[in-house]
Amino acid sequence: MTEDTSHHHPEPTGQTPPLSIDQLTAGWERVRDRLRTDLGDNAWRHWIKNLQFIEKAGASIILGAESKLATSRVSGQYTDRLRANFKLEWPEVDNVEIRHVHRTATMPPKPARASGQPASSVRARAMDDFEDFGGRLDPRMTFDNFVVEKPNEFAHAVALKTAMSENPQFNPLFLYGGVGLGKTHLMHAIATHIRENFAHRRVIYMTAEAFMHHFVKAIRHQDTMQFKERFRSVDVLMVDDVQFIGGKDSTQEEFFHTFNALVNDNKQIIISADKSPTDLKGVEERLRSRLNWGMVANINPTTFELRLGIIESRNEAEGIGLSHQVMEFLAHKITSNVRELEGALNRIVANKMINGDPITIDSVRVILADVLRASNRQVSMGEIKREVARHYNIRLEEMHSKRRSRNIVLPRQVAMFLAKNLTSNSYPEIGQHFGGRDHTTVMHAVNKVESMMNEDATMAEDIAMLRSLLHASNQP
Ligand code: ADP
Ligand code: MG
Repeated sequence: MTEDTSHHHPEPTGQTPPLSIDQLTAGWERVRDRLRTDLGDNAWRHWIKNLQFIEKAGASIILGAESKLATSRVSGQYTDRLRANFKLEWPEVDNVEIRHVHRTATMPPKPARASGQPASSVRARAMDDFEDFGGRLDPRMTFDNFVVEKPNEFAHAVALKTAMSENPQFNPLFLYGGVGLGKTHLMHAIATHIRENFAHRRVIYMTAEAFMHHFVKAIRHQDTMQFKERFRSVDVLMVDDVQFIGGKDSTQEEFFHTFNALVNDNKQIIISADKSPTDLKGVEERLRSRLNWGMVANINPTTFELRLGIIESRNEAEGIGLSHQVMEFLAHKITSNVRELEGALNRIVANKMINGDPITIDSVRVILADVLRASNRQVSMGEIKREVARHYNIRLEEMHSKRRSRNIVLPRQVAMFLAKNLTSNSYPEIGQHFGGRDHTTVMHAVNKVESMMNEDATMAEDIAMLRSLLHASNQP
């Protein structure tokens, strides 16, 4: 969701006074602490713990990371959460930037520059602009443009059914899945479809972050009655990325009440999150079980067929002119999520516009060298075993031992699965590395982990994280 900053209204209260170093430090400490609960210990330890607070310049927060990897990883994956959490401290924050800093540099927080700067340098508070309280819809995110394959088949079917019926079919509809797998796309598609076909129905689409922002603002302006009324007059309420609501009790409370009132009035509610309701952290039990009442639809990680389908459909729609060979190559190589796949396609298109050469596998290798290097790197068995043992908190020797207690068998299976996926070793070779186990044991482990990943979003996330840690561990 891009926010509209083109015609903002300045805050009626004018600029906020500068914050002291102590206030900044304390705010940053609270953000860090909340993120620990939000992200879980492991991700927090790797990516957040060592970030340095550099400064707050108006609506921008600048943080420093000590490695290039952390800089790009945190920028790519955690700035949304950082921003949501900073907003809880300082509602004007709308941008978090991660800079690469050197290990030796010590950077105590500096006092804010914001107050001394001209107003034009302070970015607009975009969310104040939405007349109807909702966010903008991306016109490219329609049902027509959504490629359906096994991983998203079910979610697509319930989304479509919801969009086509005037009375709630599944209420609430809860869509969940990992980053970049099409949750927002489906929500926008539903909203656009309703606006085009049932013009009288009032649809509000907003991010959970915007919901919090409006709510906090309403409290500050002692305006909560109107806040509630605005929501309660809608027919369809969509809230995207509700994992961001976790932790803030009063917002959850309000969300819960709004939610109940709407469901009781037979209004359609559509929610998305990166986890199933059961796995949402920091969400009150009451709200969690309420979210489980309706229809819960999961979007699974992409398959080769889905990736190829998406590449083909863009290739055709935009006349990019990729050969089938190149498309298959891309679908094999770029496996993380659809967003990354789109990023790769955009780079290829941009490159073609610049130099006009036909696109071959060789030119794609050059254009996407960095992306492909990351997915190509050979990881050693030792690294895999070490990282997995650390993640599950077991001793490295247990990877080879004969013990079969569950808390050891699972990590061992995960390590075998990663070995199969990240190294070129065969099943029997992998078995050798795990205390001379039979190749059928390894095959069983790989299948087991695969099916667990499909059934359990937490497992899929754990694996994704281990994968990225392993790719990370070899970098300078
Ligand atoms: P999420 O909200 O789950 O993080 P998005 O909905 O923003 O992911 O999807 C990321 C990008 O991938 C968007 O540009 C979206 O249009 C595209 N995308 C995701 N799934 C599909 C699909 N099945 N078909 C076509 N495009 C898709
Ligand atoms: Mg999204």
